[in-house]
Amino acid sequence: MAKKPQDATVIVGGGHAAGTLLTTLLQKKYQQEVVLVGEESHPPYQRPPLSKNYLAGDVDQESLYLKPRSVYENAGHQLRLGVRVEQIDRDNKTIRLSDQGTLKYDRLILATGSHVRRLNAPGADLKGIHYLHDIADSDALRDQFSPGQRLVIVGGGYIGLEVAAIAVKGGLKVTVLEAADRVMQRVTGPEISAFFQAKHRSAGVEVRLDTAVIGFESDDAGHVAGVAVADGCTVPADLVLVSVGIMPETALAESAGLPCDDGILVDEYARSDDPAVLAIGDCTRHRNLFFEQPQRMESVANAVDQARIAAATLMGDYKPYDAVPWFWSNQYDARLQMAGLSKGHDERVVRGNPQDGAFAVFYMRGGNLIAVDAANMPIAFMVGKKLIYQRRDIDAEALSDPHVELKSLV
Ligand SMILES: Cc1cc2nc3c(=O)[nH]c(=O)nc-3n(C[C@H](O)[C@H](O)[C@H](O)COP(=O)(O)OP(=O)(O)OC[C@H]3O[C@@H](n4cnc5c(N)ncnc54)[C@H](O)[C@@H]3O)c2cc1C
Repeated sequence: MAKKPQDATVIVGGGHAAGTLLTTLLQKKYQQEVVLVGEESHPPYQRPPLSKNYLAGDVDQESLYLKPRSVYENAGHQLRLGVRVEQIDRDNKTIRLSDQGTLKYDRLILATGSHVRRLNAPGADLKGIHYLHDIADSDALRDQFSPGQRLVIVGGGYIGLEVAAIAVKGGLKVTVLEAADRVMQRVTGPEISAFFQAKHRSAGVEVRLDTAVIGFESDDAGHVAGVAVADGCTVPADLVLVSVGIMPETALAESAGLPCDDGILVDEYARSDDPAVLAIGDCTRHRNLFFEQPQRMESVANAVDQARIAAATLMGDYKPYDAVPWFWSNQYDARLQMAGLSKGHDERVVRGNPQDGAFAVFYMRGGNLIAVDAANMPIAFMVGKKLIYQRRDIDAEALSDPHVELKSLV
């Protein structure tokens, strides 16, 4: 059933946050017409499988979509896909589109996500150098996977490591080059890094730490043939994946004069400083009542939580963001689940034994639990997440004692 176009609510972006917002509005029977404008040609989809089972070829493209396109359209909403929003005119509440069209909005929600950080090094534009952010990137990478190919991955973060796990299983010769002295250093502690380094090495991946990339070498056809590192060596390569982080996509918001600082600044209700404009997902730096300082998150959990908060705000039913952030990564048979932020911890408590393949690290500050990273130990993740939210003093010994049931601590 068509809805009233003069009341259009416009969502910019077609990722996890945008899709969850539209789905939530459908569930809540939102009365205004919603137009979603997404630069990619796909309906909103989930990205985690792009470095996991979709890259491995185990699931098909349709399974990535949050909902089939028809679900949104049958409910009277519009999807304008393959169209980029070029400009926002906040005075006239109008956006300009890449297909030369314009749209008027009553409420505008920016869900523009992030873009990959590019390496600025000699040879970085050679053929055979890949990045991974969308379906097309994952397809392009998988097309090049064949047994015996030498894949060099620049960056030992979770995406690079997930790709390493899939590639080595597919028979590629994989080398990971990491500038820090351990993998996933930005997001986890040394015990978890050591566990995953050992897993990769035992699977046949060469993991080189303290190794900064300074450039790429080419063959006669302009295709990458090697990766030059700071100690003067060149690592031979048939294929390269650069995976060195992402940046929030704020250009559109900035050019419209919306306050941004490493993300579009929004409050705990997903509101920018313009009452007609909200922002959600990877593109934001937002207030979460759980933290004193605004945060920027790169996770599905944040995209979903903020989308639900924005839906409530749009419907006048204000619900502040107050949640413990969480995240996961799958590598081989190991599922890493993380909750809270470990930065600033003064003590680490380990439960279980990495050698047994299942353990957790609890991060404490001043006697409070602030984060947990659990490898194949879902109960530690679930209980840890609750304890972090409760902010109670926790007996560190009880956390590590296998005779104390974790559930009894909540
Ligand atoms: C390979 C990979 C694996 C991941 N694995 C995990 C994981 O295991 N666990 C986890 O929690 N998180 C994971 N993430 C992160 C997670 O997918 C993101 O945090 C999440 O997708 C953020 O959703 P979003 O909607 O904010 O942004 P995005 O998903 O980036 O979507 C933003 C969309 O907006 C569009 N857009 C941008 N600007 C415009 C414009 N001007 N006009 C129109 N459209 C525009 C973009 O094209 C894009 O489609 C992974 C990410 C990747 C890339």
